[in-house]
Amino acid sequence: MDLQFSAEDEAFRQELRDWIAANLPQFRGGSGSEDDKLGVLHEGAGDWQRRLKWHRKLHEGGWVGLSWPKEYGGRDATITQQLIYGEETARVNAPMLVNVLGIMLVGPTLIRLGTEEQKKRYIPKILSAEEIWCQGYSEPNAGSDVASLQTRAIEDGDSFVVNGQKIWTSDAHHADWCILLVRTDLDAPKHKGISYILLDMHSPGVTVRPLVQI
Ligand SMILES: Cc1cc2nc3c(=O)[nH]c(=O)nc-3n(C[C@H](O)[C@H](O)[C@H](O)COP(=O)(O)OP(=O)(O)OC[C@H]3O[C@@H](n4cnc5c(N)ncnc54)[C@H](O)[C@@H]3O)c2cc1C
Repeated sequence: MDLQFSAEDEAFRQELRDWIAANLPQFRGGSGSEDDKLGVLHEGAGDWQRRLKWHRKLHEGGWVGLSWPKEYGGRDATITQQLIYGEETARVNAPMLVNVLGIMLVGPTLIRLGTEEQKKRYIPKILSAEEIWCQGYSEPNAGSDVASLQTRAIEDGDSFVVNGQKIWTSDAHHADWCILLVRTDLDAPKHKGISYILLDMHSPGVTVRPLVQI
């Protein structure tokens, strides 16, 4: 087995390295590069805006959604190229993207299972971070055992009426949309009757409160 990178992979690495060298310096944090790796968990003043601009610059350069099909704005990158991307961005301690949940979870799910209308509506704005996504699975009494979730959604014409509480929702305070796990069949056994819906975080009745750390 040949474990060397191919000439094509090395060319990909060089292209990315050159792009990073030309574009990253203007996105460095005021306190040096150390804060960049903290990302989501230790967000300080101004970090979000800086990461948002970095995300958009990467998107302009075609470096977001690497593995996604070209027809949906990706690069059709191979797994090795994704690994190289990880190595190169870690090597320079690049800031994190802002729309991590959109890129890691929502986009790939829509590409695999969404309708054409959903793909056209949501995918471009996930890549560009024009719309930020969060993930609403956990609840105060449903963590590892996510099937204990109690949030309900009752169908009402073309929409759902949702009632419940989620917790630990990373980036909820920035989010425009949420992938929400809800109970849509109240009579089904615990591990069934759960649906995955797309919730507009600007809908009436949505309240976002901080979980303040020590
Ligand atoms: C920083 C952070 C960000 C997060 N972001 C999100 C997010 O964006 N969206 C979201 O939906 N959730 C998010 N979560 C929630 C995270 O996924 C949950 O914390 C996780 O599902 C565990 O749930 P819990 O904390 O309620 O712990 P519990 O499930 O109550 O577990 C408590 C303890 O019991 C143990 N335990 C549980 N079940 C068993 C078992 N069957 N056998 C033995 N031991 C068991 C666990 O290992 C743990 O030690 C986030 C959490 C954190 C800390």
